[in-house]
Amino acid sequence: MPNRAFLLCILLALPVPVLAADAASQWWADVSTLAADGMEGRLTGSPGYDRAAQYVIGRLKEEGLKPAGVNGYLQPVALDQQLVDQDASRASLTAADGASTPLKLGEQMLIAAGGGPRPAKVDAPLVFIGYGLHLPKHGHDDFAGLDLKDKIVVVVSGGPAELSGALKSHVRFERNAELGKQGVLGIITLTTPKQVEIPWERQRTLVRGPGMYLADAKLRDSNKPFFTASFDPAQSEMLFKGSGHAFSEIAALADASKPVPRFALAFRLKADIAATRSRLTSPNIAAKLEGSDPKLKSEYVAISAHLDHLGIGAAVKGDKIYNGAMDNASGVATVLDIAHRLKTGPAPRRSILFLFFTAEEKGLLGSSYYARRPTVEKANIVANLNFDMALSLWRLQSLYAPGQEESSLGDDARAVAASQGLVMIPDPLPDRNVFIRSDQYNFVREGIPALMFKFGFAKGTREFDIEREWRSNRYHAPSDDLSQPLLKDEAVKLDDFVAALARRVADADRRPQWLPNSIFRKD
Ligand SMILES: [Zn+2]
Repeated sequence: MPNRAFLLCILLALPVPVLAADAASQWWADVSTLAADGMEGRLTGSPGYDRAAQYVIGRLKEEGLKPAGVNGYLQPVALDQQLVDQDASRASLTAADGASTPLKLGEQMLIAAGGGPRPAKVDAPLVFIGYGLHLPKHGHDDFAGLDLKDKIVVVVSGGPAELSGALKSHVRFERNAELGKQGVLGIITLTTPKQVEIPWERQRTLVRGPGMYLADAKLRDSNKPFFTASFDPAQSEMLFKGSGHAFSEIAALADASKPVPRFALAFRLKADIAATRSRLTSPNIAAKLEGSDPKLKSEYVAISAHLDHLGIGAAVKGDKIYNGAMDNASGVATVLDIAHRLKTGPAPRRSILFLFFTAEEKGLLGSSYYARRPTVEKANIVANLNFDMALSLWRLQSLYAPGQEESSLGDDARAVAASQGLVMIPDPLPDRNVFIRSDQYNFVREGIPALMFKFGFAKGTREFDIEREWRSNRYHAPSDDLSQPLLKDEAVKLDDFVAALARRVADADRRPQWLPNSIFRKD
């Protein structure tokens, strides 16, 4: 039995540490439930996703938050699902002399299932257009001076050093629609071996999952069937045969962010694509905490995370459930923790929206739908704070918030960080452009300032190695599960930080603004 002095110590220590421990336990309980095998990886449209959604709604009710969907807490999103049968599809490269080389689909080349409908057939010459970046206003245009109509373009990863990473990603996101407008029939993307993020082996298994796009054609960037594929970095050299150039030469230039030549390739691509399509509905979830200011409460700070993950797929080391503990059960648990913190204290002046998106893994679709069909007045959403695998794998001492250089939210974040003994650092790997790779981007496209949040790390440190190891071994793999060493006490320190930031933004007289030189500023 513990002695009295010991008990007294515990009692005196109660307020601060016990609160933190509770938040951490709740956070971990939420992550554990959402990433349990019984949720079957929360694939958009699956029973597992719907079970996870019911759990989140139960938690929102428990926190006393009001529904803000169209059907209670739910906002149904209609989606078209497309499955590409790599084995039943056929493709070949045909040279000018008629010689034809069959391609091994699902191995050498992967036909993507997402982004929009695939055509049943293509037969078109290939043109290499360098980085494939169309930025005429910024003095760089890889489409210029080439006849691209009825061609299939081939592009390499990366881009010139003088263009910001955000700008490059921004234009890449809209590239297929822009190419479609110019009469291009499709795109093959190449990645230099050095720039590979997800090993090709794993991409081969991931491509067999269903792709999706919004069912409402008015909300798609493009409706024309468009051929979209990627090519094995170890075999990309074969595309350049007879062109007078080598992939090795192109890859070396791309790895150095140097200008890359553009030229016709010596082949036509012929392909027959076997794809099946079906319609499904999967919900976003929306809840709100009403603000206290009679005027400002009609405005909203939206705090969000995606709930979906990859479901059940190809087994890796005998495990076929893609639990998505970090990606993104962790983010959902964080939004719930922030909701609890904001609900517990005095009500913020502006209202707070808590959003959980479907189909992020299918191309940011749930948030794309929400940002354009919001359940509150769009003009009244003043900011979006988003979470997508913040990676609580080491102590939280520094953090970075992609988007922090673009809007006044950066100053808010720095001020709150300073008050909590945290340091805001620049994105350690800016070329990865995470700002454009999760749900906040859809708010940005609608003109709404946004941030997302990541644990900080620096090159040459242990954290850098942990992060890289995590990316190559666990990211979008079944091992992103509950057995990994997630640090729950560190995770909730981030929640504490963002709750304070949300409060500051919700209480400020002036709503957040894009900085004058931001590329995302609309006016
Ligand atoms: Zn994610």
